[in-house]
Amino acid sequence: MVESSSGTQPQVEIGVIGGSGFYSFLDDVMEVTVETPYGPPSDSLFIGEVAGRRVAFLPRHGRKHHLPPHKINYRANLWALASVGARQVLGPCAVGGLRAQYGPGTLLVPDQLIDRTKSRAQSYFDGMARLDGEVPNVVHVTFADPYCPVGRQAAIDTARAGGWEAVDGGTLVVVEGPRFSTRAESLWHAAQGWSVVGMTGHPEAVLARELGLCYTSLTLVTDLDAGADTGEGVSHEEVLEVFAANVGRMRDVLFDVIGTLPANDSRDCLCVNPLGGQEPGITLP
Ligand SMILES: [Zn+2]
Repeated sequence: MVESSSGTQPQVEIGVIGGSGFYSFLDDVMEVTVETPYGPPSDSLFIGEVAGRRVAFLPRHGRKHHLPPHKINYRANLWALASVGARQVLGPCAVGGLRAQYGPGTLLVPDQLIDRTKSRAQSYFDGMARLDGEVPNVVHVTFADPYCPVGRQAAIDTARAGGWEAVDGGTLVVVEGPRFSTRAESLWHAAQGWSVVGMTGHPEAVLARELGLCYTSLTLVTDLDAGADTGEGVSHEEVLEVFAANVGRMRDVLFDVIGTLPANDSRDCLCVNPLGGQEPGITLP
């Protein structure tokens, strides 16, 4: 492992927000510490090469998994990835299934999002002074379609080509956590027609959009959520067990997707110009 905390930072194309299970076996991984105007990201970036592309991996919860979902500095995380050049971000995460047919081991690539978080800074344009004293303008981004259509299709096609019948579309509801849902909450989520429930998918997607990054969520169902399950409810052990059993499969999909994503300068999707002429008031990475 090469360490670099200053000086020239390598330009990457793609960011992956996920733990060491995704990068630990890569050759020549460089650890890069990045400062942001929003404070430190969850951890260093771990930069390596996958399928001929430069990729920065960022452990969402920190390498020691010490950050609960509501304490993650999402703004710093997305900013850090953008600042080293990433324009496409893949966000794998563990979720609970809200329908009986989405059992453990299901890969679902959502196309919609419901935000039920409570305490998270979810905009770079909140009119507040940053750590460097700069104050952004108030701007509003379009978020009707929260995920990159190109990245989504690439993820679905790649998974299916590898024999994993990914679910194409669905609604991810993101709750504050760190507790799991009550049965009543879970039944309510399911009754709304939502598909899966997680704790980290928001505000990653909207922050990526504000920075003009393509963001694709890949959700791995680790359990049936309380209301969809007749058992004792979700346990953390159960989640870890299913995630560990599928991490290799998820890594294979991620790496294959990386090879199929368009180059940074040939992106042609709704993610590219989110401000539509609105002045940000700050310099975006
Ligand atoms: Zn895009």
